[in-house]
Amino acid sequence: MIEISDVVKRYPLGEGEVVAVDHLSLTIEAGEFVAVVGRSGSGKTTLLNLLAGIDRPTSGTVRAAGADLGGLSESGLAEWRGRNVGLVFQFFQLLPTLTVAENVMLPMDFAGKIPAVRRRDRALELLERVGIADQAGKLPSTLSGGQQQRAAIARALANDPPLLLADEPTGNLDSHTAQAVLDVFARLNAEGRTIVVVSHERDIRAIVGREITLVDGRVVADEGDRAGARA
Ligand code: ADP
Ligand code: MG
Repeated sequence: MIEISDVVKRYPLGEGEVVAVDHLSLTIEAGEFVAVVGRSGSGKTTLLNLLAGIDRPTSGTVRAAGADLGGLSESGLAEWRGRNVGLVFQFFQLLPTLTVAENVMLPMDFAGKIPAVRRRDRALELLERVGIADQAGKLPSTLSGGQQQRAAIARALANDPPLLLADEPTGNLDSHTAQAVLDVFARLNAEGRTIVVVSHERDIRAIVGREITLVDGRVVADEGDRAGARA
């Protein structure tokens, strides 16, 4: 599902530069549930943005969900992302003027993968799956943090992407709510979706099976199951 080879990402900083990702190579098989952990500034968000094609590497190659991202134009990347990647962020990033259901329908309108007549029903089904169907007609600001993150997960599933990427999705939630959100991810993984989650949760390893630790943009530990080893 993911193959990163010798990827470097540098950002200019004043006179010099920051090496955010430093000669990193990594393979993630379809069906894996992987956590990326590490201190603030270790390169977790940069790695996720490279996987999502939001950012391009300085050197090295990123293959994900069947594409070599370096070979795609900006519009090609946007189209690939819309169909293949669901993104979940720490601060939910729901559009405040749209209802919860409309937020979930938006990526369907953008990608055109789901027929227009199916979109509203599909949004309601996805909200049902994450346990907040009763909030469909409300504005995001009237929901709790945990409910907003569930809405964001439903939105990430809009186009049925094989790959879910989440950047500290529980970072803004209390521990009980965080656990419930991680349970939603675990259920989605059990259904076969590949998930990479950046997390600060202390017990994330017990949930995900594989934990990759970054220090200064390098992998210093890669522990736990691989998809093949789990069977
Ligand atoms: P993490 O998500 O683990 O906190 P990041 O990937 O955000 O780490 O950042 C890794 C390093 O790259 C940090 O030193 C950060 O300051 C730097 N960095 C990240 N994004 C940018 C950017 N757009 N411009 C300049 N430096 C950046
Ligand atoms: Mg980050």
